[in-house]
Amino acid sequence: MIDITNKIKEIATRLFNDGQIDMFIAWEKGPYAYQTKPYFAHSLADVDKIIFDEYSVHNIANALLKFRDGKQRIGIVAKGCDSRGIVRLLEDNQFDRDRLYIVGLACPGVKDPLKAMRNNSGFSNKVEANDLADKCFDCIEPNAVIFDEFIGDRQEPRGTEERFAKVDELEALSPDERYQFFEDVLSKCIRCYACRQACVACNCRVCIFDETKPQWVGRETSISDNMMYHLVKAAHMAGRCIECGECERVCPVNIPLMTINKKLIRDMGNFYGAHAAGLEYVEGRKPPLSVYDEQDPDDFL
Ligand code: SF4
Ligand code: SF4
Ligand code: SF4
Repeated sequence: MIDITNKIKEIATRLFNDGQIDMFIAWEKGPYAYQTKPYFAHSLADVDKIIFDEYSVHNIANALLKFRDGKQRIGIVAKGCDSRGIVRLLEDNQFDRDRLYIVGLACPGVKDPLKAMRNNSGFSNKVEANDLADKCFDCIEPNAVIFDEFIGDRQEPRGTEERFAKVDELEALSPDERYQFFEDVLSKCIRCYACRQACVACNCRVCIFDETKPQWVGRETSISDNMMYHLVKAAHMAGRCIECGECERVCPVNIPLMTINKKLIRDMGNFYGAHAAGLEYVEGRKPPLSVYDEQDPDDFL
């Protein structure tokens, strides 16, 4: 990946030198061998720290939200999933396309730092053979879908229809069994909101779950409050989730959030046609549940 790093540095240098950007968002090496973290280069002097390696796992499109109200012109590196996140922000009117210079990557897949730490800690008796991040096993599009410049040879998506296997299992359950499934998994939720913080589609300025007047949901982690959180999040993700897998990756108690998201993704496809959120940017286009059409299915009303 050294070639990709060098190419990114070259582009960032050129953009700063030409005065085209005020900031460049990429990754830098963290304090641990398995840690690579989002990085904000503010000038030419910062470019040297930029890196892209096998642990550049974060969806850095999310970092753009910090600057949505500013005027900075921003260069940003985007793997396939990051670029879908950028499309999400553009469709949601959270960022101006004109303020961005997108360096798209053909992403070879990245590793999960937690898996790597577990494998190398000496405490785990189950060494996972393949430490590719789970989100990359199911990747629907590893190549950036929106860019001003593209790096690398195009990669084949790994995600197939088989990525819905867990959704099939869920749908095969009786209503009572399904309720039991959700009760079991969601009762573990500690409502740390890491899944919300990591999610580029969770971009409301004030989240309903942070409001105190009125307070829409209790602070305790009772099953009813937990279900309320996950139901509202699911409703807000329907037709908007870009399937980046970040929510499930960051969940500290391993809740299978992507099973819920994939159920939404497949249902949205079935109800509203083959709309794959984030795969393409069409100026002015909105997700299916953000617009009304007289032909919309309404059998459930
Ligand atoms: S989900 Fe796809 S684009 Fe994103 S890091 Fe994994 S392989 Fe790359
Ligand atoms: S990251 Fe996991 S534990 Fe935290 S709020 Fe989300 S689902 Fe719950
Ligand atoms: S719900 Fe999860 S998979 Fe969907 S956009 Fe948000 S972080 Fe990505």
